[in-house]
Amino acid sequence: MSVKTSPRDAGLAPYAAAENRSGGRRYPEPQHSYRGEYQRDRDRIIHSTAFRRLVYKTQVFVNHEGDLYRTRLTHSLEVAQIARTVARSLDLNEQLVEAICLAHDLGHTPFGHAGQDALNRCMEAFGGFEHNLQSLRVVDELEEKYASFPGLNLTYETREGILKHCSKKNAQTLGELGLRFIDRKHPGLEAQLANLADEIAYNHHDVDDGLRAGLLTVDELAGLELFREQYERVKVTYPDITRRALIHETVRGMINAIVTDLLDTTRQRLAQAQPENIDAVREHADPLVGFSEQTSIEHQQLKRFLQRGLYRHEKVRQMHRQSEAIVTALFEVYMSDLTAMPAEHMNKAQRWEADNGADGRARGVADYIAGMTDRYAISAHQRLVNPADPP
Ligand code: MG
Repeated sequence: MSVKTSPRDAGLAPYAAAENRSGGRRYPEPQHSYRGEYQRDRDRIIHSTAFRRLVYKTQVFVNHEGDLYRTRLTHSLEVAQIARTVARSLDLNEQLVEAICLAHDLGHTPFGHAGQDALNRCMEAFGGFEHNLQSLRVVDELEEKYASFPGLNLTYETREGILKHCSKKNAQTLGELGLRFIDRKHPGLEAQLANLADEIAYNHHDVDDGLRAGLLTVDELAGLELFREQYERVKVTYPDITRRALIHETVRGMINAIVTDLLDTTRQRLAQAQPENIDAVREHADPLVGFSEQTSIEHQQLKRFLQRGLYRHEKVRQMHRQSEAIVTALFEVYMSDLTAMPAEHMNKAQRWEADNGADGRARGVADYIAGMTDRYAISAHQRLVNPADPP
């Protein structure tokens, strides 16, 4: 690891991820003449095939249900916006945090968590399926963009941030990158921040989408301190406000309050711990990016409320059941007949089967299904499973 100072690290806090301390790329590459390493990571992610597909992948609502709901692409952009704001205020590495945020959901299956759960069940006997691990697999192995290496060959720090969770069993197969899950250590601050920005973004936009869909009501939400406080404030300040603007002002106020809390709390923790560099951040006993105790409790309440009120709403569950049925049926069809997949996927699955038996075959099928958009999965299902019975 080189410790020469780089002009691109100028202005960063000592505990930020810096290019001069980077763990580097898996396949060494010459530096670019005017783009920084994390900037190149971000650019590679934006130009990837998996990133473009996020526009047609579900967050909570199935993509074709309406044009107003969040998709994984708009979700990823909102996560990046929140995380960049905080990174800039704390003199963290804004380019790195943006790269992590834009890549964090690349491995998601069609149909959100319902798709991932179904695929994980299908893969139970073949090594399982974790969407976080799949995001890493997309950037490390599956994208075919370069002549001299597989994947996007991203820096260690971006890959560290993408791998948010990981089972211990899988961590053992990941070398250096998996160690923190075994040793119970933390990633750098940019990765910690991207993780919390993800939670902030989805909890708040799900309030907005849930109200829009009519699955949540203002009365129910008013039972939550985080919502009620902002809602009352906006109503008093703007008595004649329209319902739509009232909801947006409220949700904006909620995000502003929680981001401010995150910023203040993290600043205090950093002032206290004074980590001298990113390795000290990784070694620190607790994560340094976080909420105050009170906000943490209130944020948990919001999360639980959404679980009960939105994710387990009968209408959402019904969507989930259909999604699970589609993913499961597709898995069975392709497993029993690899020729039902396009040639490049069939060839890969056959190659991996020759190396690793049924596990390899199943991994090829899972990669193909995980890469599908919602609408692609629906039409493949209709063509292969239900030609006479449109969904
Ligand atoms: Mg996310």
